[in-house]
Amino acid sequence: MRKSGIQYSIVVPVYNEELVIGETYKRLKKVMDSTEETYEIIFVNDGSKDGTVEIAKTICDMDSNIKLLSFSRNFGHQLAISAGMDNSSGNAVVVIDADLQDPPEVILKMIEKWKEGYDVVYGKRAKRNGETFFKKFTAKAFYRILKSMTDIDIPVDTGDFRLIDRKVCDKLKSLPEHNRYVRGLVSWVGYKQIGVEFIRKERFAGETKYPLKKMIKFASDGIASFSYKPLKFANYVGGTISAFSVLFAIIEIFKGIFTKSGISGMSLVIDLIFFLIGGLFITLGIMGEYLSRMADEAKGRPLYIIGEKAGFEDENKMLIRKI
Ligand code: UDP
Ligand code: MG
Repeated sequence: MRKSGIQYSIVVPVYNEELVIGETYKRLKKVMDSTEETYEIIFVNDGSKDGTVEIAKTICDMDSNIKLLSFSRNFGHQLAISAGMDNSSGNAVVVIDADLQDPPEVILKMIEKWKEGYDVVYGKRAKRNGETFFKKFTAKAFYRILKSMTDIDIPVDTGDFRLIDRKVCDKLKSLPEHNRYVRGLVSWVGYKQIGVEFIRKERFAGETKYPLKKMIKFASDGIASFSYKPLKFANYVGGTISAFSVLFAIIEIFKGIFTKSGISGMSLVIDLIFFLIGGLFITLGIMGEYLSRMADEAKGRPLYIIGEKAGFEDENKMLIRKI
């Protein structure tokens, strides 16, 4: 099924990648030329302050398969990917990091799976080379924590390196939310998905562009977009405190009745304070329940996505139902 003249779009976010972009272009070109199909490589410059843009422009002038989108400032990796997808026209879209940690050769395996009929082929990191213990540990922990907090099946140890079919790309474009956690959204839209394993390599050159601050923002977007458990946390705390305070009050009263020590007024007052604190937390938790529902509305995600339709007059209309 070919809708546009371009078969593959490769989206590459770049932020201060002057040391790698030339090599990335060469490796990607080699791989994509070997498919003998049409393709475009879209570099999305996320407000780089080094020579990335100049190099990207030179490559664009040399090679008509290369395109460049340039942000006015640093908007972040996830928005760079989104902009690349929004402006792509291939029948399959591949997102890949610029630093060659995701080996471009794996794209060929992804294409194979796509041609077998899969709509999303995500790269699963079987092993990570050349990254710090801290990075590997926090990443592993984060993917597992997020998985335990959400009902959406977001595969662990996968990044944004993946191939998506045009129809999946179009659905992602229709999701208006701002704080995007793209790999979660790809899982959320569904369709036929499969992983291909690969070994994540060392960065080709330069430093990571994901300092701790960006990692925390990224992780909190992931959790806030796909789990309301943190909002409900106050409920559990409040419930536990109140339940214990009631229990202690009963024990105190029984002690007063059945032993000689009598009821301790002080203990009861302290207990009452704890009971009220518990009540406060519960109230916060109730607000959390409402907030989570408001967040759902604010996200503006469609209620559901229908993958295919048959026998209808217009098969493209009404595939998404807005609230
Ligand atoms: N990147 C980006 N904007 C940012 C940070 C990173 O576009 O604000 C790009 C970066 O150029 C690279 C990809 O996102 O292509 C992943 O970044 P990096 O390799 O530094 O992250 P790490 O692999 O260390 O997690
Ligand atoms: Mg990297």
